Amino acid sequence: ISKQKVYFSEIINSSIELTIHLADKKNITIETNIDEQVVILGETNRLKQIIVNLIANAINYSLENTMIKLSVYQNKKYGIFEIEDQGIGISKVEITRIFERFYRVDRARSRNSGGTGLGLAIVKHLVEAHQGYIEVHSEEGKGTIFKVYIPIVNT
Ligand code: ATP
Ligand code: MG
Repeated sequence: ISKQKVYFSEIINSSIELTIHLADKKNITIETNIDEQVVILGETNRLKQIIVNLIANAINYSLENTMIKLSVYQNKKYGIFEIEDQGIGISKVEITRIFERFYRVDRARSRNSGGTGLGLAIVKHLVEAHQGYIEVHSEEGKGTIFKVYIPIVNT
């Protein structure tokens, strides 16, 4: 893929625009804490696909009237995007499988949401195409945090 310097904040803002109607339907508030200076090396549309998928999941697997927090910051090597929800969470057993193609946690609620189970497999593939990586932390019944690491531009 052909990469360019992009402001992480611009990717996040347009991804929020694309998903805000889903959040509004469930009265979910999206809170942001974004370092506007973070510049990463990536392909705009693929980066948006990563972020939109993660926001959509956070909304789908949350109850009404909850909050989703998005943050962007950096360390020496990476721009880091963090998304935290107050949703249903993922058990220790299931969390080992969520990046597999077509894997969906076998519960009525995820069947109801009508997805295919491809979202996170694509997300992981796209993150790795950027020489980045993705982490997940979750507690059942409490919520989930995904962290996406994308290389920053060395200046
Ligand atoms: P789609 O292909 O439409 O994205 P999907 O959302 O079911 O379908 P993935 O995005 O790959 O597929 O997610 C896989 C499974 O991981 C989901 O079915 C869900 O069970 C679980 N999951 C993903 N994100 C979250 C989250 N934020 N909170 C709780 N469970 C989640
Ligand atoms: Mg999904």
